[in-house]
Amino acid sequence: TVDVSVVYYETRERHFELLVLLYDMTEVIQMKDMQTAFVANASHELRTPLTSISGFTETLLNGAQEDPTDRQQFLEIIQSETKRLLDLTDDILTLAKVPERANTLQQFNMSEMVEKIFNAKAEIKDNLNLTLKNEVNDTLVVNQNKSNFEQILTNLIGNAMKYNRQDGSVKVSAMVTANELVFAVKDTGLGIPSDEQNRIFERFYRVDKSRTKSIPGTGLGLAIVNDLVEQAQGKIELTSQVGVGTTITVTLPLQ
Ligand code: ADP
Repeated sequence: TVDVSVVYYETRERHFELLVLLYDMTEVIQMKDMQTAFVANASHELRTPLTSISGFTETLLNGAQEDPTDRQQFLEIIQSETKRLLDLTDDILTLAKVPERANTLQQFNMSEMVEKIFNAKAEIKDNLNLTLKNEVNDTLVVNQNKSNFEQILTNLIGNAMKYNRQDGSVKVSAMVTANELVFAVKDTGLGIPSDEQNRIFERFYRVDKSRTKSIPGTGLGLAIVNDLVEQAQGKIELTSQVGVGTTITVTLPLQ
């Protein structure tokens, strides 16, 4: 798409000149289309739990609260849908704020960070009886933006645990080359079909909704990871096989 401006003017020497300016608008329009799609998707995702909360509240008010079993069941639905709304709004805000996140660097111990994330997700570990392996050298000190790095690791480890199988495992490893930090999160979980492997980084995309229906998520975790890695001028690689597991490798330039 090209935007054209034409200026026709007279010079001091009384010549008439025509100035034609051509602007390539492709990127601006693509950006605008993406924003419009994002707002449409976000509204749709927010409406789903809101409709459910509104419906069950009305049913309770119309008499269902008299039956203790119904009351308990409907209140539990309202509670979980409210939790979903909170998760969605938190992730939408995190994603929107990626461009304004501070880019200050800090030195920290990566292995301790992995351990902290594992501990924060003990509930999933216990539910699936997972083995969590922290293979990051315990002396490895990295110089990165700490909160962005923690967000990336939290989302990747969270997925590796959530989309795992009973008695499965998650392994986090890292190595430093001459100018890069390379780390990987490997799981023995459900895997991702090859035709969907690129799509999972899209905003709100979730693989096979029926498969993951019982697993909570917003479809924004990997979009956040993608934006943060891009901001740090790094790259993400994914290998995955259905029923075997997934490995996501992130490479970041050494600061
Ligand atoms: P969600 O909040 O749904 O987990 P993400 O953006 O983090 O959103 O991931 C998008 C989708 O990609 C998930 O819904 C899931 O279907 C799939 N996915 C992500 N990570 C894994 C993984 N380690 N193993 C299997 N599927 C995964």
